[in-house]
Amino acid sequence: VLTYIKKPDWLKKDLKRAAVSGPVNAVLAGYSLNTVCNEAGCPNKGECFSRGTATFLIMGKNCTRNCRFCKITKAAPEELNPREPLNIAKAIQEMNLKHTVITSVTRDDLPDGGAGHFANTIFEIRKLCPDVTIEVLIPDFKGDYEALKKVVDANPDIINHNVETVPGLYNAVRPTAVFERSLELLRRVKEINGNLFTKSGFMVGLGEKEEEVIALLYALRGVGCDIVTIGQYLQPSREHYEVVAYIHPDQFQKYEEFAQKIGFQYVASGPLVRSSYHAEDGFSYLKKV
Ligand code: SF4
Ligand code: SF4
Repeated sequence: VLTYIKKPDWLKKDLKRAAVSGPVNAVLAGYSLNTVCNEAGCPNKGECFSRGTATFLIMGKNCTRNCRFCKITKAAPEELNPREPLNIAKAIQEMNLKHTVITSVTRDDLPDGGAGHFANTIFEIRKLCPDVTIEVLIPDFKGDYEALKKVVDANPDIINHNVETVPGLYNAVRPTAVFERSLELLRRVKEINGNLFTKSGFMVGLGEKEEEVIALLYALRGVGCDIVTIGQYLQPSREHYEVVAYIHPDQFQKYEEFAQKIGFQYVASGPLVRSSYHAEDGFSYLKKV
């Protein structure tokens, strides 16, 4: 039986701001760049674009994995565009960004999972915009730590890798991912370069229990993760995994306080929080402490 749960008021966004997203759209179109904001149908797009920010999605629009919560197209991967790293740097310069977030589809078809392309993108940004702080939201590279090292050695400011949900829901929600592998990736980043900040995020409302969330937060702290983001899962279409619950803002607050108590340096927890939502706030906070 299909159940339809009415979206609560706290998830309704002011869509009027979308009207002022023209300049960001123009830069993206000018350099033929994709964003996760568009491809994943993020509810914050109007707000972020009107603030002049976006999260770049590199290596094409098609993903080689099949996560059941994600709107990104699952199809044959595209050819890598060797000009993309420079185009990203130019777009960042034109958008006058101070902090940038770069993510990608998962490219299990490439020998290095696209790590070299990530590294090239970081190099081009550093060359053209030396003052911009760089956050990369990376895939798990199937546990290839040589690939991971390429990205770490390119020296971004933050390496973000989302665990997405509690381990008990991986089979149902992210069948091609492995929780321990994702955790190990975060641990290895710190092992290779202890000066980099690490960040992870997950969704709630997928059927997880509170104690599983608490255990997940402990696990992330256990590998030295500095920043965590927690947001409400929203079903992109009826083909996707169903929302099990709309978590109340008070519960998000509770998770936030708990995460701070166990030592995360920066926590963003709220119904509309996404991994890259106000990402610059987290970084400027960390730079100050
Ligand atoms: Fe894009 Fe992130 Fe903002 Fe969503 S929260 S619109 S993905 S920058
Ligand atoms: Fe979406 Fe990432 Fe899963 Fe690909 S690997 S389907 S981009 S969440």
